[in-house]
Amino acid sequence: MKVERIEVFPVRLPTKAVLTLPRGPSRTLAEGKRIVLVKMTDVDGNIGWGEAGPSRRWSAETTESCATSIREYLAPALLGHDVFDIAGAHAKMNRELATGMDPGQPIAKCALDLALHDLLCRRLGISLQSWLGAKRLDRIRLARLVSAATPEEAADLTRAGLAEGYEGFKVKVGHHKHLDLDIVRAVVETAPGCYVWPDANQGYSLDEAIRMARGLERLGVPLFEQPVAMSDVYAMKKLLSATAMTIGLDEAAIGIPFVIELIRREAVECLAIKVSKVGGIHYARQMCDLALNAGLKLIGSGLQDAPIGFAASVHLFAAYGMVEPVDLNGPQFIAEDYLESPFPIERMTALVPASPGFGIAVDEAKLGRYALGPETSRLNRSRRAS
Ligand SMILES: [Mg+2]
Repeated sequence: MKVERIEVFPVRLPTKAVLTLPRGPSRTLAEGKRIVLVKMTDVDGNIGWGEAGPSRRWSAETTESCATSIREYLAPALLGHDVFDIAGAHAKMNRELATGMDPGQPIAKCALDLALHDLLCRRLGISLQSWLGAKRLDRIRLARLVSAATPEEAADLTRAGLAEGYEGFKVKVGHHKHLDLDIVRAVVETAPGCYVWPDANQGYSLDEAIRMARGLERLGVPLFEQPVAMSDVYAMKKLLSATAMTIGLDEAAIGIPFVIELIRREAVECLAIKVSKVGGIHYARQMCDLALNAGLKLIGSGLQDAPIGFAASVHLFAAYGMVEPVDLNGPQFIAEDYLESPFPIERMTALVPASPGFGIAVDEAKLGRYALGPETSRLNRSRRAS
């Protein structure tokens, strides 16, 4: 049951829209969604797929850094590794690329973590959710991301989302600060009864965040995501005491050691879980368990995940019972992908597949169509080649 071969496929998927963060666009249409897929094969010929999908300006990693780290350090460390020893696989990867406040190049490590999980679940003939051992939900509602420069544009985007079936809207704020409250108000008033929350991606000072929180309370908004800098524990704690609304931490929830520190300092009440930012399912499930046992709220999130990351996240979020709409917005931004058949989504609700692994099949001919140089690499146990 050892890993025999790992193939690396950098690809570019066409996108249909641009997401703008306070630091600027996360990617242009010309860049598209760039990801690094890995195909892991064991000695019996079972396969598993994983992917690294960094989001420039959100993450410190890039597609190029992920491809290099996987090819040169992480994949070679896992050749010959027992596919059922996921903890040991992470220990090996962490010996190659050190951990810090986060697991150390977590998005690159996530690709191999996902491939291992997919492979072992396929070997066992069970879904990832079954392997996680929790069936709190069998479907996950998706939220639409609203990134608008004016309240009118926000209302238009929200109307379009309602027509597609969305019941949740996450509003990007922090880059048009004087208009932010009006932009959120436009979404709330256009989508009554829906779950609406803003995400500032660390864009506010403490004073600005407190003012915004008071305005959001008047709108009845339940949650405010990452208003202040992820490293500013004082501001996160102060904000909790200044408002009755829930403060969600996303960028701050980068790794278990820092989350433990936030819990000790009583500076956290809600975590946004992204599978990729914490290094894959292995750490994401630990963070979910830690949060639930500490009485924290969990919300689901992502980095415009392509279908492998998307599917793995849906299994995890369903296992951990994330009832609010989640910000898994790959389907909103990615125009074409590499699946043989589409992931099951009905009226913007993702249905958890029951078939083995993540429940999706990669079409390798399509992968070739989206290939991004340099060419695909193949690493075998007996030799390394590229
Ligand atoms: Mg966020």
